[in-house]
Amino acid sequence: MQAAEAVPGVAELSAGASKADQEAALKAMAEWLARDFDQARPTVVAWVQDPALPAEFRSRLLRSAIEAARTAARLTFATDAGPAYQELVDRLPTGPNRSQLHQSYGNLNLQRGQFEKAESLYRLALADGSNRDISKRANVRSSLGVALAQQGRLDDALDQMLQAYRLFEQTEAGPSTDLLKNIGALSVYLEDWTQAVNFSRLAIEQSGPDNPGSTGIYSNLAAALIEQGKLEAALEALERGMAIGAAHGQPSASVISNLGYVLRELGRPKDALEQFERAAELNRVESDAGSLGISLKNIGETLIALDRRQAADVALQKSMAAYREADIKPKRLELYPVLVENLEQLEQFPEALAMMREYRELTEELASADAQARVAELQTAFDLERKERELLESERARLAGEAEVAALQAEQSRERLVNAFLLAGVIMLGLFLALMVRALRLRTQANQLLAEKNAEIDKQHKALGKTNALLHRQSVEDELTGLGNRRSLRQLLGSKTPTALGQSPALLVLVDIDRFKGVNDQFGHAAGDRVLAQFAGALRAVAGPDDVLVRWGGEEFVWLVAKAGISDAPDRCRALADQVGAADFKVFDRHLAITCSMGFSTFDPGVENPQTEFDLALKIADAALYEIKGRGRNGWTGFERRADDPKVFEGSLDIGALIKRDALARKQIQAPTTDPAGHSDAATAGPVNTAG
Ligand code: GH3
Ligand code: MG
Ligand code: MG
Repeated sequence: MQAAEAVPGVAELSAGASKADQEAALKAMAEWLARDFDQARPTVVAWVQDPALPAEFRSRLLRSAIEAARTAARLTFATDAGPAYQELVDRLPTGPNRSQLHQSYGNLNLQRGQFEKAESLYRLALADGSNRDISKRANVRSSLGVALAQQGRLDDALDQMLQAYRLFEQTEAGPSTDLLKNIGALSVYLEDWTQAVNFSRLAIEQSGPDNPGSTGIYSNLAAALIEQGKLEAALEALERGMAIGAAHGQPSASVISNLGYVLRELGRPKDALEQFERAAELNRVESDAGSLGISLKNIGETLIALDRRQAADVALQKSMAAYREADIKPKRLELYPVLVENLEQLEQFPEALAMMREYRELTEELASADAQARVAELQTAFDLERKERELLESERARLAGEAEVAALQAEQSRERLVNAFLLAGVIMLGLFLALMVRALRLRTQANQLLAEKNAEIDKQHKALGKTNALLHRQSVEDELTGLGNRRSLRQLLGSKTPTALGQSPALLVLVDIDRFKGVNDQFGHAAGDRVLAQFAGALRAVAGPDDVLVRWGGEEFVWLVAKAGISDAPDRCRALADQVGAADFKVFDRHLAITCSMGFSTFDPGVENPQTEFDLALKIADAALYEIKGRGRNGWTGFERRADDPKVFEGSLDIGALIKRDALARKQIQAPTTDPAGHSDAATAGPVNTAG
């Protein structure tokens, strides 16, 4: 125990020891830790835990040990440091000492990848350290920024680092190169290109232009310059970065591939290809599957630009394999559209479709519940749009679509480039987190691209047309009855294309099966379903070829009678009632007597806003239906609308009052129990019938 003898004994250091003795002991211990951490560790831990020693002394020793552990990469020291930190932090008064203890322990946690813990420790260090040196406080903020960045909280990270920068500006020494570099890199991530350029240039200036550490900074600088459209300047930055790398015998694959990217953007695809191939070679040597995937994708895209699509496919497939090996799903997400597009160009449609399916599956797997809902929404929107697009397929729409794809591709190129950069001085663990954050942000666009790609595939391949037609039909069709659903009606009312319904006045009949709940209750839901399907058959039998039939709700149907006036309504309703009456509704060998109630109203599809017109017609038909239900069901009544001003019909309908004002005119009432005095009116001249 040669080294141990060089330090004073514990007894000498107990409460009574002089400041000078304590300083000497700390110095000796620090030297021992630096010389042989593992050997010094047990003694140091024993001292740190010794309640006989002053807390301040113990905390300074702990800090010294933590710094030594970090230098010696003995991160397991955390198991000793954690409990000691907890104990000591309670014993120390608020102030610089306690602030420094938080900071040291924070540093250890940062290095171990415990970013959240590090964050809270740095925040404690700031709270306790208000009267510490400006540069010390700036250091804490700078570290806090790194801890935040590693959690993917890039905005907060940048904010802390800029605060640190402003503090450092007030000091003699100024900010560290790492801080400048980190601000530059974060600004790239957050797409503040001017700030990225400024801070990267400051970092290069400070580190000295030939410093081997500055190759990464040149990359950041180049990325920002590319975004500003300053490709020549970007090329220069990259070439410098590379020259430095070469001079120090360490060519960086990411710098090489960025160079390739710029060359490609400058319209030099052959030179670009050469660089991408060099980068891929380096990635292989370094067994860096993730970066290899990026390089191979670049190669593929460049080959596409050179119109060597078959070779491109090979490269892109290899890229996919590399991403799979590295298990980087967001990158795969970016790759699929390129792969699919190329396969389409090669007319390898089955392969394209298979890739498309994988793409969709992966999207679903990766997307949050929210994003998934959005995909579904887009899918639905897309399904609805498709029919219209097929009909109206116009040059304009296609050009717009292409422009959008191009914009997305540009965004993805930028993403690819940005992802090639690392924050300085932080361990690899965080990179993936940061990538995920960016990937999340891009997911919305990816979803859009997904919808766009679907459209392209469908348009181009008639073979797939049938599947699409089916898909489309399903989206507008009620599964049980095969009638239209609400969505189909909305589409019909919203579309500019002429429909069979035409522009001429029509009738809206709202049909509701009577006491249907009883069927379910008595015979079960499945039997109820069969009755519904059969009822739909009766509706179809009486509907004209241009009529529109929609299952509006459970056992409620909307029947738009084309080219019909109010005086046709009773006949149409009677026809349906007869058809339903004659139909043989059979469940479990029992014959059910099914009836329905109907309310009708005039409906003019030729107006400017058919949806509003429909809503109003439905409201009136519903009131009529309600009346029939109240009168014992199995009948019909309805109204002609005479007032043009929709305001007249706002709020709940007072039918009697509206008839009196001549806003509505009743057309016939047919119900088991009618009340002629209250509900018939002379204007319609229809007879008041009683049935049953
Ligand atoms: P009313 O004469 O007043 O219209 O009485 P009703 O029983 O027909 O009306 P109510 O609105 O009380 O009940 C409708 C029932 O329709 C309730 C619901 O369980 C049933 N239903 C709704 N959708 C379906 C479906 O898809 N299948 C089956 N089998 N039943 C359904
Ligand atoms: Mg009913
Ligand atoms: Mg109902």
